[in-house]
Amino acid sequence: MTAAEETFQPTAPACWCCGGEFDERDLVRLGTHPEVGVCLGCARYLQRRAAEREDELRISPAARLRVGVRGAREWVISRGWHRLPVVGTVLQRIDRHLP
Ligand SMILES: [Zn+2]
Repeated sequence: MTAAEETFQPTAPACWCCGGEFDERDLVRLGTHPEVGVCLGCARYLQRRAAEREDELRISPAARLRVGVRGAREWVISRGWHRLPVVGTVLQRIDRHLP
């Protein structure tokens, strides 16, 4: 065994979006590019960005409602309410069910 082999330590898989290291089970791989993985949080973020883009391209009453919900989310986040001890936990739980 060479010195390089002795010092080699495999690194944990990293998210290609945020750069964080995760267990393989906590990453989502792209279909035709399995070397690319994103963590579940970033996958959720990308899903929201995709829905936002769809709403921009196809304006409808439901899209306007979702734009309003997103605006309210950004307003709450800009004030840091999502980090408050009790209220923040409730807001984050509600946010999981919003578009
Ligand atoms: Zn990530």
